[in-house]
Parts: sequence; structure tokens; C-alpha cells
Amino acid sequence: MTCYGGCTNVNCERCRPKWMICPSCGNRAFMQLKKCITCGAELPEEAKEKARALWRERQEKSK
Ligand SMILES: [Zn+2]
Ligand SMILES: [Zn+2]
Repeated sequence: MTCYGGCTNVNCERCRPKWMICPSCGNRAFMQLKKCITCGAELPEEAKEKARALWRERQEKSK
């Protein structure tokens, strides 16, 4: 169940964070998109950073 550096699966959450919380509507949004699929608001870079930090935290805990 280990992912290697060359993993190109965009749905793989083990290699990279995939979801973030949209600051405008509070729903889950794809980090890869510029805009939230639910409300259409632009996803600010700082919200993405926050999601990345949370993801790193989760990775640390699952070790
Ligand atoms: Zn992977
Ligand atoms: Zn939204």
C-alpha cells in the first residue's frame, strides 16, 4: 500500500492532498481546480496551503 514518487494517479490522496475546504461555502473542493465546484468561488492559495498542512499532519499521524 505504498506509493512511489512516480505515482500519477490524480485520485490518490496518499501522495498529495486532493481535497480542501472551500472558504466560501464550506464544502469540499478539488485542490487542482481554480474554482470551487459547489459555489464557483475562486480557491485562494492560502486555503490550499492550509489544506496541504492538514494533509501533512495526517500523513505524519498515519506512519
Ligand atoms: Zn499515489
Ligand atoms: Zn465553495
